[in-house]
Amino acid sequence: MAEPKADIALIGLAVMGQNLILNMDSKGFVVCAYNRTVEKVDHFLANEAKGTKIIGAKSLEDMVQKLKKPRKVMLLVKAGSAVDAFVKNLLPLLEKGDIIIDGGNSQYTDTQRWCKELASTGILYIGMGVSGGEDGARYGPSLMPGGHPAAWPAVKPIFQAICAKVNNEPCCDWVGEDGAGHFVKMVHNGIEYGDMQLICEAYHLMKDVLNLEQGEIAQVFSDWGKGELDSFLIDITSDILKFKDTDGSYLLPKIRDAAGQKGTGKWTVISALEYGVPVTLIGEAVFARCLSALKDERIKSSKTLSKSVVKFDGNKAEFIEHLRKALYASKVISYAQGFMLLREAAQVNKWHLNYGSIALMWRGGCIIRSAFLGNIKATYTKNPALTNLLLDPYFSKQVSNSQMSLRRVVAQAALSGVPSPTFSAALAFYDGYSSDVLPANLLQAQRDYFGAHTYELLTKPGDFVHTNWTGHG
Ligand code: NAP
Repeated sequence: MAEPKADIALIGLAVMGQNLILNMDSKGFVVCAYNRTVEKVDHFLANEAKGTKIIGAKSLEDMVQKLKKPRKVMLLVKAGSAVDAFVKNLLPLLEKGDIIIDGGNSQYTDTQRWCKELASTGILYIGMGVSGGEDGARYGPSLMPGGHPAAWPAVKPIFQAICAKVNNEPCCDWVGEDGAGHFVKMVHNGIEYGDMQLICEAYHLMKDVLNLEQGEIAQVFSDWGKGELDSFLIDITSDILKFKDTDGSYLLPKIRDAAGQKGTGKWTVISALEYGVPVTLIGEAVFARCLSALKDERIKSSKTLSKSVVKFDGNKAEFIEHLRKALYASKVISYAQGFMLLREAAQVNKWHLNYGSIALMWRGGCIIRSAFLGNIKATYTKNPALTNLLLDPYFSKQVSNSQMSLRRVVAQAALSGVPSPTFSAALAFYDGYSSDVLPANLLQAQRDYFGAHTYELLTKPGDFVHTNWTGHG
């Protein structure tokens, strides 16, 4: 039998798998490619992988024999049952010390389950978030690995070689135990939903409140991308706005305004509800997609439901600057909420998350990459125990300087009848989080009135009492 020569095997020859294999090959690793539909292996070797060191396998048994020990097998297949099927089939072929890496968008609870199930076998499991899409996979993704810590030293040289780098620092580091990597990736995707919706609302307000031409809006985003909002999503938004169809007209207004979603934003919000963390901005971003998808219903109701609006008669340039500041402040608030969720989940699951290192992993390679994440990284490096991003002196000053702009934007949107769910959520959260007194005293009284749920007095916290509010027996 020939000497095993592959450094790693990669299963899943769809867009992500193919590009990640080519990336690993370009960094000098020998990769063995495999796919459920085996014909795709031959096709890949004869086309995209032609002239490389990449080898293929005809079966899982064949693949395992071609791997150097400890064997490293990475899955980039559909999350859920496809991952489960491959892991089950791999287990009898692997031995103690071998490593399975699931690089798909799996639910973190699936990764927790596999880590637990494999603990007694000695086979090590990693659940790794991969972000950056097709291009990232090929030229440098953001990688968020978590699972059995003993697996990290063996895979670290490969993943830190192929990932994105910012100032020579790899956008890949060990995240934490069991499902931590996939949890961090899920929150990353949730934040991506929030960032995208905020940008969409800014576009909507420029289009329908300021009545700017599309080319002018493209220019605004292009200008914003040169300042503190410098990010991949702002850059692509400007490109999209400038893009002309084959007939010379803009393509964007022809695209049906009904958003799709694959689930990771929804999972973030479900987790936020489960952990009891108010991740309101991402919640609104997910619901904004759901509302957009009701296109036919919206067309009908737009003909029936009237709108009383107040037309904008202010200074457009000034409002654009308010919008820019509102977008920045809302982003800070959204990331603060995302990190609150990470902190709570880490406490419950006993993960030792390094928030500065998470910000660095998101700083490059992934969809939410931005200059702003560099500031978050610096903040957490300076103060790893920071309880909330909004309480950091740098960010609290930034939000404080922008809060009047956020108020003006939300007020103008409301007066104009243009929905701004994420801007509004950001402001409502800020105002709630910065209030020492909220009307939950009344809420507690109501609960006690109809359900005898009891309440605490401010003077006696922890002491729960019930009042007979009606005087009836
Ligand atoms: P995909 O469309 O999610 O999955 C296609 C791959 O899964 C193919 O190799 C397919 O094999 C295999 N597969 C599907 N059902 C299977 C089953 N029941 N049993 C065994 N294999 C099965 O591919 P992708 O877009 O490259 O994404 C791969 C993973 O990365 C996913 O978890 C995705 O969510 C995640 N991800 C994707 C992106 C992106 O931009 N696309 C970005 C980050 C993360 P066959 O060829 O035999 O059908």
